[in-house]
Amino acid sequence: MSGRILFKGATLIDGTGKEPVENAFLLVEEDRIAATGISAENLVGEYDEVRDLSGKYLMPGMMNCHTHVVMEPVADMQSFARNQTSVTHAVRGVANLQKLLRSGTTFIRDMGSPFAVDLGLKKCMKEGVFKGPDMFCSGKMITMTGGHGWMFGREADGPDDVRKAAREQLRAGADVIKIMATGGVLTPGVEPGSPQFTEEEIRAAVEEAHKAGKKTATHAQGTTGIKNAIRAGIDSIEHGCIMDDEAIEMMLERGTCFVPTLAAVFQIIDNGVEAGIPEYAVEKCTRIFDHHLESFRKARQVGVKIACGTDASTPFNGFDKTALELVLMTRAGMGNMEAIVSATRVSAELIGCDEEYGTLEKGKFADFLILDKDPLADISTLLEVGSVYKKGELVSC
Ligand SMILES: [Zn+2]
Repeated sequence: MSGRILFKGATLIDGTGKEPVENAFLLVEEDRIAATGISAENLVGEYDEVRDLSGKYLMPGMMNCHTHVVMEPVADMQSFARNQTSVTHAVRGVANLQKLLRSGTTFIRDMGSPFAVDLGLKKCMKEGVFKGPDMFCSGKMITMTGGHGWMFGREADGPDDVRKAAREQLRAGADVIKIMATGGVLTPGVEPGSPQFTEEEIRAAVEEAHKAGKKTATHAQGTTGIKNAIRAGIDSIEHGCIMDDEAIEMMLERGTCFVPTLAAVFQIIDNGVEAGIPEYAVEKCTRIFDHHLESFRKARQVGVKIACGTDASTPFNGFDKTALELVLMTRAGMGNMEAIVSATRVSAELIGCDEEYGTLEKGKFADFLILDKDPLADISTLLEVGSVYKKGELVSC
């Protein structure tokens, strides 16, 4: 896009949490927002082109803090994973990044990629080879020997080895370090609640990341592992299925962010064994889902920061469905505005890119969605986004 384009007449939901503004304008210059406000009448002569959005709604692009773009949301991930190479992962990654962007997700944080393919994908997007959402990458996830996701990650044991594994990811260009504090539902024979890395091991990864100015995230489902990670200084708890009051209190105290990924568990239960999902995964999810919703409700009630992530790649948890997480969070008690803020401003704060992304304010990148219906009246309208703009350009990939 060249010049200045004025988008006017829409109701603006800017992502900050402020009340929506009717008859608002957004003045976009190149890839950024040059100005925003109510009624564009005073802007005569300030723009080269005008687009009338009367009757429509404008909001920031959604952010998804937990994806695995090189994987595929098939029913049986274990058998799928056995037949993949770095090339098949890379090609899938391109397609999945395009799906994310087309469906309104303009920024992602990828949480673990076999062969660290995510880092190469990010490089190619930066060089303009193909278009997708902006991306923060973790490279390979770090897990204990035989721990959750071991077949995709970097196995490490003891604080020194975990430290080395974190340094390796940082050397390769990781933006965030992802570790595994507990078992998970999708690795057979591994209990979701059982702790894996020790507090000392987690602390080693956290120290290395923080020294380099990067954040850390942990897969954590059971209470003990969650507490180990919080005490070790982790920046976000991913999943957080079984949290007691003490864990929630600790998160609140230390400002640890929560990325519940309700969509992952929901899709496994909703599709079930009939759809080909292994029985062990369905059984584990069914066992924990009530706890998970309870953890979410309690954390939200006391004011723990909740960011949006779907874990896209798990069974039937597609890359075009970031909005399902917002739908599920509202079903579990969040207001529609709160869910939008979670998927925009709060997610940007967690990722650490909120200076330039996450809200529609002057100076930030022009990443926004144009909607026919009001998402504050019906959040599910985000499942079918009309137009997506990435850095001021209409997405057509
Ligand atoms: Zn994940």
